[in-house]
Amino acid sequence: MAGIYIHIPFCRTRCIYCDFHSGTDMSVQEQYIDALCRELDLRIDELHGEPIHTLYIGGGTPSQLSGSALTRLFNHLSKYITWDECHEVTIECNPDDLSDDYIAHLRTLPINRISMGIQSFDDNDLRFLRRRHTAQAAQEAIARCHNAGFDNISIDLIYGLPGQTLEAWNKNIEKALSTGVQHLSAYALIYEDGTALMKLKEEGLVQECSDELSLAMYARLIDRLEEAGYHQYEISNFALSGREARHNSSYWNDTHYLGLGAAAHSYDGTTRRYNPANTRIYIDNIASGRCCYEEEILSDQDRYNDMLLTRLRTRQGIDESRARRQFDSTYIDYMYRMARPHLACGNMEQAEGYLRITKQGLFISDSIISDLFIVE
Ligand code: SF4
Repeated sequence: MAGIYIHIPFCRTRCIYCDFHSGTDMSVQEQYIDALCRELDLRIDELHGEPIHTLYIGGGTPSQLSGSALTRLFNHLSKYITWDECHEVTIECNPDDLSDDYIAHLRTLPINRISMGIQSFDDNDLRFLRRRHTAQAAQEAIARCHNAGFDNISIDLIYGLPGQTLEAWNKNIEKALSTGVQHLSAYALIYEDGTALMKLKEEGLVQECSDELSLAMYARLIDRLEEAGYHQYEISNFALSGREARHNSSYWNDTHYLGLGAAAHSYDGTTRRYNPANTRIYIDNIASGRCCYEEEILSDQDRYNDMLLTRLRTRQGIDESRARRQFDSTYIDYMYRMARPHLACGNMEQAEGYLRITKQGLFISDSIISDLFIVE
């Protein structure tokens, strides 16, 4: 069982906080689709014939692709994907792009999950983040998708914005719940190097939310979503029963995936491959029949650290017997030795054959994971 990720590096405008690879030049869209189709032909064997169970089209803003470009891409994917066995087909969309016509076109394709970058239901936040939609447009887009028959919709929210209060965050959560979405991801605002947001911070024009407030917002999120029937299956992800993101879960479950497009990553169990984060270089290389990824063969230590980074973010945790099969005793002994103080104070637990971070430990999960890391 394997997955395919496709990166679409086009955005109509750039958001203030974003460091993902994307650009605003739409003129190369058709060449880019050509390159994706060609790269798929060149690299499909890396999945060794494993059936493809999930497809995720992310970005960038995939909903900036025209309907005909999307159809062309899906027609080519049909050469390799049996849609009946591909359980989850997700496309990331901006609410602004989801007109009735565009949604109707999405319904003609095998897409069964929409992931919408909403970020906030407050227009002041949206203007600050330089999102191009309004809160009302977001609510209407979700309703249109539901009405058109999409019953698996995920939204992203960001908390800890400069000046955001706990009360404002509560309102955001309530508005999100009122939309009836099946899945929600929420992330604390990060000041990434090279972004316009970081520049504002360096110039003293914005002030970071305090750690205490950010943690209070996170605690409120967990409690309120749990109360509303959403299951927290990963640090930042919440879902109604059966609506956990299968593609994202495959990253945490060591499933193999092929990443196509500029800046996409691939993983086959032993090797990671990184496509260049440059759309022009990507298109030119693939047009000449050359794959242009950089390759990293993973050492045991890399794989051990990857297991911590991915599995300890999940509420299920590390499958202890599987870890023992995958790593020699040096790694396993180290893991338990470093986990001991966290187990003693209730930040971690061992239960049902899993080593996991508890609800109490979630608030310091980064430091727990880094304690168990092996760094030379
Ligand atoms: S739409 Fe998404 S990918 Fe594009 S700039 Fe905004 S956050 Fe980044």
